[in-house]
Amino acid sequence: MVSIRSVLAVAGVVGAMGWSAWAMADGQQSRPGYDDTPMQPDGVWRVHDSRRPQPRVVAPSAFVAAPAPADAVVLLGAGDDLSAWQMDDGRPLSWSVAGGVLQSGKGYLRTRAEFGDVQLHLEFATPSEVKGEGQGRGNSGVFLAGVFEVQVLDSFENPTYADGQAAALYGQHPPLVNASRPPGEWQSYDIVFTAPRFAPDGTLSAPAVATVFHNGVLVHHARPFWGPTAHKRIAPYAPSTARGPLRLQDHGNPVRFRNIWVRPLGD
Ligand code: MG
Repeated sequence: MVSIRSVLAVAGVVGAMGWSAWAMADGQQSRPGYDDTPMQPDGVWRVHDSRRPQPRVVAPSAFVAAPAPADAVVLLGAGDDLSAWQMDDGRPLSWSVAGGVLQSGKGYLRTRAEFGDVQLHLEFATPSEVKGEGQGRGNSGVFLAGVFEVQVLDSFENPTYADGQAAALYGQHPPLVNASRPPGEWQSYDIVFTAPRFAPDGTLSAPAVATVFHNGVLVHHARPFWGPTAHKRIAPYAPSTARGPLRLQDHGNPVRFRNIWVRPLGD
């Protein structure tokens, strides 16, 4: 059967139409994302661009345990000690822990300590019972220096805008590939983060940079952040972003975490 899209292509019409238009002409849903958000600073894609290609799916190898090395700061170990953590707003902890597994609660959780450059390891699992779609499925996030988000999401057969899926530098850079495991399974992030640098007058001299492995697969190779993370925009750099707590996002979906450790670098 000849599709409307192929007819339009033959007629030379497709080139003049945006993706959303020809996707809909083909009877499909338009892609999730936005067409009215600001362009990113390099002028190639919009923030959360609906036309940005989806990363290729790569099945990771079997889970590899990563116990904390001797010089790591253990933020969440095998026990139920949450003394390294507090709520963003200072209220009593609404996140719970049992058997070394942290369950998200209401509000962002943050470390009491602040960090600059770090090596970070953490493990997370989105709910095995799949609920919601797109950004509403297993959404959380890991905020480096308090403000630079590596997205946590159930991105196993769950389309969303490319720069919003699991392991994206949210709203800025999609992961090189989608190395997500199925919902409910433990997954890992290994992140090397270089905090931004500022001149004495407060101007940016070097952006924040992240190298990220998702389930052992490289998904960002020394990738600079355009700025602090925001929704539908990119926030401006400020000297206050040179250092900050590790923050875990509450996005209204239950997400579990375990085995979280950092190695502060160069402090
Ligand atoms: Mg998030």
